[in-house]
Order: sequence, then structure tokens, then C-alpha cells
Amino acid sequence: MGCAPCSFFHERCKENMIVVLKSGVKQEKKEQLIDWLRKQGLTIHVSEGEFHTVLGLIGDASAVDADLIGSLDIVDSVKRVTEPFRCCSRKFHPDDLVVEVGGVKIGGGHFAMIAGPCSVESEEQILAVARSVKASGADLLRGGAFKPRTSPYDFSGLHERGIELLQLARAETGLPIVSEIMSTVQLPLFEDVDVLQVGARSMQNYDLLRELGKLDKPILLKRGLANTLRELLMSAEYIMAAGNERVILCERGIRTFSDYTRNTLDLSAVPELHELSHLPVIVDPSHATGINRLVPPMALAAAACGADGLMIEVHNDPMKALCDGAQALRPEEYDALAKKVRAVRAAVHDL
Ligand code: PEP
Ligand code: MN
Repeated sequence: MGCAPCSFFHERCKENMIVVLKSGVKQEKKEQLIDWLRKQGLTIHVSEGEFHTVLGLIGDASAVDADLIGSLDIVDSVKRVTEPFRCCSRKFHPDDLVVEVGGVKIGGGHFAMIAGPCSVESEEQILAVARSVKASGADLLRGGAFKPRTSPYDFSGLHERGIELLQLARAETGLPIVSEIMSTVQLPLFEDVDVLQVGARSMQNYDLLRELGKLDKPILLKRGLANTLRELLMSAEYIMAAGNERVILCERGIRTFSDYTRNTLDLSAVPELHELSHLPVIVDPSHATGINRLVPPMALAAAACGADGLMIEVHNDPMKALCDGAQALRPEEYDALAKKVRAVRAAVHDL
């Protein structure tokens, strides 16, 4: 299955570019550039103004190196007029995408709460957390079985056993499960996982993204630690162009000079991604802040600015957590937050 809307509207999907030439450029040099651009398979529309010549590049200019053209001594500026992403572009899919998984809907006015521990640590732990977040109204259960740790000596998850324990928790609570896949070699273990998460560190693992594009499951794609929104959307494009249109974007904080919090939560990404793309956008205030007490206010702000869901780390005993204990909410803290999120959503809905 390909990206149906994109193959259908293929002509409309093509990217155009505008090249403004410097004033007084010799005709011969102008023609050399136009010739070269034509050889790239583009149609060139030349508009001669009083001071500048403007070249309109019509066709698929996504493969043309804008920086290279911009560096030519006869070129004043270069501007792309459509985004190089197509499958995930709002321009070609005006309606919000609603991702459905196990009876839960995300996007297009459907708000999903994803909650659970950073990592699955034991049967007792995951069942306790799953039961508590379910009682607080969570829609999906998260838990890492494969953990991307900064240090190779830290706990890296229970691997296959972690996935089995998540499945056990799903069988008991009915909550669909979300877990991070780090490599294509892990794919067979994720066959019975409902939503596959691509972590911040893997956002640009293009081989992984391409393989996930062949699956019939939603992919939760986290923004990389130092990636722009355009790069995030290009990564979504990898998955979608390979055939899987069910992508959920996740803002989880980016690296800035601020060293007080673990990352800096870029909440403006939420309305901006909604503007650029029809994909659902959720927010992870846990990794964004790294600090337990900052999670609730940032979660409420995310709900207020239009996020389609939240992913929050919850642990039954954060002091003993094997990973990310400092940012985990206790079950009762999560319960209080879930109630406030519902109140904020209702208030914003009425505005
Ligand atoms: C996680 O959600 O468990 C995680 C590792 O997050 P991130 O990839 O955003 O750091
Ligand atoms: Mn974590």
C-alpha cells in the first residue's frame, strides 16, 4: 500500500523553487544557469524585472541543491515554495489524521493519554503501574523494553521479557501497549506490540524508518534532541512514503543552552506542526523537563495549546526506578494530573 493521497495528487505534490538573480547579470551567464536547471528536468519560467531576473523552477525541485544554487555569484536568493514533505503535508491532506489503535483514537479532536514507566522492570512493577494508570483513565500503556541509555553500563531494559510483561499488562487491563524499537533486528519481537515508538535518538535512523513504513501499525515518532520541525517531518515522510500513513509526532523537548531542565519543551512546535501537517501531535513533558514537579504544569500547557495527547512516565516507586526516577509521577500524582488535563481540555474546547 503506498501513500494513496500522494500518489493520487502526485503532480500537485511537486516542489517548486524561486531563484532571484543579482542585478546586472550577463545574459550568457543567465542562460548557462537556465540550461543547467533545464537539464535537471525542470521547466523554467523567466521573469525579467527592472532590477532583478526571477527564475521560477517548476516541477520536482526537491532534488535540487538550493544551497549550491544560492552559492553561485550570480544568484541573490533562493526560496522553496512548497515543502519537500508531501505525504505528511497539511496542504495535501486538509483533514486531521485520526490514528486508531485498539479502540483508541488519537488526533482530529481525540485526545489520548499514554502513561507508564520509563522501563519495564518486573511483573509486579508493570502490573501495578498499568492498573493504576488504567484506573486514572489512561488510554495506552507505555514501557521501554529496550532502553537507549547514555551509558553502556546502565540498565538497558528487560528486552524480550519486557515485551512479554507489557503483553501481560495489556491482557489484564485492556490497554494497548507502546514500546520503543531501536533496531530493525528487534522487529520480530514487536509483532504483537500495538504502537512502535521511535525514540529521539533514532529519529534519523532512516533504515529503521523505512522498515517501519512497511508495517501496518501506528508509529510514535519522537523529535530528535537537536532536530528542527522540518527534519522531524522529513523523518515522518520516510515512514509514510514507504507505505505506513499512521504516524504520531511527539514533541519531547530539545537541547538548548538552558541547563536547568533536562531539555527545553518547545511547545510552539504543537500549533506549528498542526499548521504544517495533518498528523496528530502529542507531548512528552517527562523527558522534556526531567523533573517530577515540572511535569504537571507542562502537561497542562500542552493540553491547552492543542496537543492531541500526552505521554507521561509513571512509576509505583520512583525512588527505586531503574531509569528516569526523577521525572516519574507517582500513581496518585498522575491521577490528580489526569483530572486537571480533562478540565483544561474542557475549558479550551469552550473557548
Ligand atoms: C522514552 O520515551 O522512553 C525515551 C527514551 O524518550 P526519548 O527518546 O524522548 O528520550
Ligand atoms: Mn524515560
